[in-house]
Amino acid sequence: MQGEKITKNKEGLIVPNRPMIGLIEGDGIGPEVSRAMRLVVDAAVKKAYKGKREIMWDSLLAGEAAFRRTGDYLPAETIEKIKGNVVSIKGPLTTPVGGGFKSLNVTMRQELDLFACFRPVKYINGVPSPMKKPELVDAVVFRENIEDVYAGIEWKAGSEDAKRAIEFFNSKMGTNIAHEAAIGVKPMSSFNSKRLVREAIKYAIRKQRKSVTLVHKGNIMKYTEGAFREWGYEVAREEFPDETITEAEILKGADSSGKIIIKDRIADSMFQQVLLRPDEYDVIACPNLNGDYLSDALTAQTGGLGMAPGANINFDTGIALFETTHGTAPKYAGLDKSNPGSMILSACLMLEYIGWEEAGEMILRALEKAIMEKTVTYDLARLMEGAKEVGCSGFAERIIANL
Ligand code: NAP
Repeated sequence: MQGEKITKNKEGLIVPNRPMIGLIEGDGIGPEVSRAMRLVVDAAVKKAYKGKREIMWDSLLAGEAAFRRTGDYLPAETIEKIKGNVVSIKGPLTTPVGGGFKSLNVTMRQELDLFACFRPVKYINGVPSPMKKPELVDAVVFRENIEDVYAGIEWKAGSEDAKRAIEFFNSKMGTNIAHEAAIGVKPMSSFNSKRLVREAIKYAIRKQRKSVTLVHKGNIMKYTEGAFREWGYEVAREEFPDETITEAEILKGADSSGKIIIKDRIADSMFQQVLLRPDEYDVIACPNLNGDYLSDALTAQTGGLGMAPGANINFDTGIALFETTHGTAPKYAGLDKSNPGSMILSACLMLEYIGWEEAGEMILRALEKAIMEKTVTYDLARLMEGAKEVGCSGFAERIIANL
C-alpha cells in the first residue's frame, strides 16, 4: 500500500493516517536495532489506533549499504527523500576517525539545515544507574547542530593549506601559531545560535518547564562561546520578555512566578553541576561540541547510550531526522545482542512529533515494564542482579508482549 506525504503549514505538521516515514537502517548494529524498532512501533500503532493508522516505511540508503549499492555513501536521492518525507528516522552511521570521508551525520545535518539536535534525557524506572538518585535527571538538551568546530573546516598539520592559513594568521593577524600545527576553525553566528535558543525557550514555555540554561565556555572563547551566551540572553529579553526572567534578576529580588528562568553556566562547571545537582537543570541550550559531550554525560546517569534517544530538527521547515545517540558498535554487529532502546525511544519522540502520542506512551510503558521485569539486553543485564539477558530481537519481543 502506498503511503501519503506528511506536510507542514504555519500551524504545524499535517499527518495523514498512512504517512510515509523515511528509515535509514544504518551501519554496524543499525540494521538489527532498526528492525527491532520497526516491529515495536508497528505493533504499538496497530494496537493504539486499531488499524486506522499505519506507518508506511520508506527505506532510504545511506552509509555502507548505500556505498555497496550506488558507490556513494550518501546518495543525493536520500537527501531529497528526507526532505520530501519531512519525518525520517535513522540508525547509526560509521564515521572514520582522523581521515576518510566527512561524517555523514554532520553532512545530513548541514545539507538539510537541521539546526537543532534535540536530546531529552530522563530516567526510566528500573534502569541500572551509577547514581544514587538517577530519577533527579530530567533534562532536555538543545544542541546547535550546524556550526562550531563541527563545521568541518580544518587543515591537516604540514599541509599546504595549513601552512597558508598559518602564514596568513601569523603575518596579518599578529598570532604566533607553530608552523607545524594543524588548523581548525570554529565559526559561530548569531543567526544559528539565536534560532537554537529560541526553540529551547519555546519548548520550555510549551512544556511548562522551569528553566533554560545556556552552557558555554565564554570565559576562554569570548567571541564565539561568550557571544552564544549574549545572543541567548538577547533572544529571551527581546522575544520572550513576558515569559522569561533571568537568574540575575531573581537574585535582585524580582518575582519569578510563572516564568521560565534563563541562566548560564560555564561548561566545565556544568559537568559537575549535572552530577551533583541534576534537578536544577531542565532545558539546556548549548553550542555544538558542549552539547555533544553534555548529552552523553547526562545519558550516562540514566542508563547509558543504549537508552538515549535523539533527533535533528529544523523547526521552521518541520524536517526532522530522529536517530540513535549511540554509534555503530561494530564489535556487536550482526550478533543480535545490542540494546535497541535508543532507536525505540527515538521512535517514541518521533511519534510524539507527529502527534501520535498514544502509541509513543504505550511503547514507553511497555519498555519500562520489560526493564522492571529485568528482561533486558547485555548492557543493562550486567548491571542488574538476577536479570534475564535477551538479545536485541528478544528485547523487542518482550516490549511487544507488554504493549
Ligand atoms: P558506539 O558505537 O556508540 O559504541 C561504543 C560502546 O557503547 C559500545 O562498545 C558499547 O559499549 C556501547 N553501546 C553503543 N551502542 C549500544 C547499544 N545499542 N547497546 C548496548 N551498548 C551500546 O561508539 P564508537 O565505538 O565510538 O563509534 C563507532 C562508530 O559509530 C564510529 O564510526 C562513530 O563515528 C560512529 N558513531 C555514529 C553515531 C551516529 O550515527 N549517530 C554516533 C556516534 C558514533 P560496551 O562494549 O562497553 O558494552
